[in-house]
Amino acid sequence: MIRADLIVEGAAEIVTCAARSPSSHSSPADAGVIPGGVVACADGAIVFVGTAEACRASVTLDPSGLRIDARGGVVLPGFVDAHTHLPFGGWRDDELEKRLAGASYQEIAAAGGGILSTVRATRALTPSALETLVRERLDAMLEAGTTTVEAKSGYGLSRESELVILEALARAADHPVELLPTFLGAHVVGPEYRGGGEGSRAAYVTLVVEELLPEVAGRGLARFCDVFIDQGAFTLEEARTILEAARRLGMGIRVHAEQLSRTGATRLAIALGAYSVDHLERLDAGDVAALAAAWTSRGQDAGASPGSARAGAALRAPVAVVLPGASYFLRETVRPPVRALIAAGVPVAIATDFNPGTSPCLAMTPILGLACLLFGMTPDEAIVAATRHGALALGVEDRVGSIETGKQADLVVWDVPGRRHLAYRIGPIACAVVIKRGRIVAHEGRRSGASGAAPRIGGLAMLVDLTTRQFLEKLASDAPTPGGGSASALAGAQAAALVEMVASLTLGNEKYAAAHPALEPIRAKAAVYRGELADLVDRDAEAYDGVVAAMRLPKQTDEEKAARKAARASALRYAAEIPLKTAELSVAVSDLAASAAPIANPSAGSDLQVAAMLAEAALGGAAANVRINLGGAGSEEFAAKANERLDAWTRRAAENAAAIRAKFA
Ligand SMILES: [Zn+2]
Repeated sequence: MIRADLIVEGAAEIVTCAARSPSSHSSPADAGVIPGGVVACADGAIVFVGTAEACRASVTLDPSGLRIDARGGVVLPGFVDAHTHLPFGGWRDDELEKRLAGASYQEIAAAGGGILSTVRATRALTPSALETLVRERLDAMLEAGTTTVEAKSGYGLSRESELVILEALARAADHPVELLPTFLGAHVVGPEYRGGGEGSRAAYVTLVVEELLPEVAGRGLARFCDVFIDQGAFTLEEARTILEAARRLGMGIRVHAEQLSRTGATRLAIALGAYSVDHLERLDAGDVAALAAAWTSRGQDAGASPGSARAGAALRAPVAVVLPGASYFLRETVRPPVRALIAAGVPVAIATDFNPGTSPCLAMTPILGLACLLFGMTPDEAIVAATRHGALALGVEDRVGSIETGKQADLVVWDVPGRRHLAYRIGPIACAVVIKRGRIVAHEGRRSGASGAAPRIGGLAMLVDLTTRQFLEKLASDAPTPGGGSASALAGAQAAALVEMVASLTLGNEKYAAAHPALEPIRAKAAVYRGELADLVDRDAEAYDGVVAAMRLPKQTDEEKAARKAARASALRYAAEIPLKTAELSVAVSDLAASAAPIANPSAGSDLQVAAMLAEAALGGAAANVRINLGGAGSEEFAAKANERLDAWTRRAAENAAAIRAKFA
């Protein structure tokens, strides 16, 4: 059996986003959907993904494990947002009217707006204020289903300020959203370097190459180096100087390419083995062919972790990262040739490009919709682009971006009936649960406590972890589970708890010292049984859900009928075995109560009577559940043996209850 500490079940679809073969990163049209699937995790990693039936047969959940009911929602890998300008001060909402009045991006920048206005606002922040902003934005991203994010510097543009930004990102590394920092000192030329001589742009490139890059790489402050290669930013030759220096330092490379004009940045990125080329509005057919050729010759095997010694030497094939948010916001009518890229087998990723000037959007779901409506991607292509291909663009495809055994347990349960809704709906979509490395980090659209302790959520956690009131509400509802079997197990668990209580009251009193040696093991055993019976509250519901699932299997052909019959018998057998276990533990609790009665503190006598009666009720209820499922379980021998044991236990529990009543009456 596979051990699990977390199971996500009850989903309409598990969208794995797994590649069809380990070496194939194309075929994004296939998002790898498992209808009604289950994901199981242990120690932060995915240990099982498959059908509910296969999960029941091969996965066992730890007694302290968590079972999450996706309630007919959709489970996806956490989004991987591969292009953001997350750390910045100030918004640029005042530019909206200027833009609407017809001013271009370049005109706004020339008038003192644009990137340099954000540079001023960012430099004005204290390091701790910047860190707070970063953390708040990461919270918002997490609540919107993003679990891995790339974040670029580039609004400092001076030695000191660029370092302050990267240090703020480094301090936020403990946030549940995994941060991959990128040094974008070459975003535009720093404001102090727009004159001549020591204040020239050449001097700025020298600052980046000779001072900033060695310090950033030496202190491990960024995994990647990015350059904005475009009109008003950096030339191809300046970029080559900067990027080659970054490569020599072992940093991964990515570039802003062909956004406002075609510069040849993509060819440079290919030559340098970049992880990604981003934007690509003005990519030409030759560039598409060159990217495709790089993927054919290098594939993913060329990869090495950015920041590692090998990364400097390895040549990656660049992922095409397109940014529909920026196209939308800039009302750009020239689109990146996304269909041509996909047709040529180039992996396409989508990202928010979150920044205050051209894409003030930090959630991925609106980007999915824009990718479809503006760039002509299918919803499944957009989903793969936002997960697996985002991970590929960041060189973390071996850990995140898909739901596959061995990968990090980064999962999002979406409260939508089908995956298409993620691209189809305009506006907020509720993220029911966000899981990072196997831990719940947000639920019902809200970040969980900073302590990272797994919250117990009504309707999503294990039944046994609900509040009493919530459990009773669920029990009272017309949902098939929890039912009488779960209620019986809970009664048994309460009986065990009362036996423990009575034992503790006696053990804590010196007057009954003579009874202590006998009561110590009674208390210990009751504690164990309490835990097992509490676990059975959920196991019983799960068993019945299995029966319901088997009954829903198709029954058109003879083959289907036979498969359904076998599945039904196996589910009923399990649905009989679980309450049989409840019955067995309940009679054991009843026995403990009976052995405690003669030696227990008599002031707790009524508690012991309640324990005995609850144990008897638990046994009786469990027995009724065993017998109702025995008929279809397909084994007369199993049924006969179970009936025989139940009869004996029922007599014994009645005797125990009578004896305890007699003792304390
Ligand atoms: Zn950008």
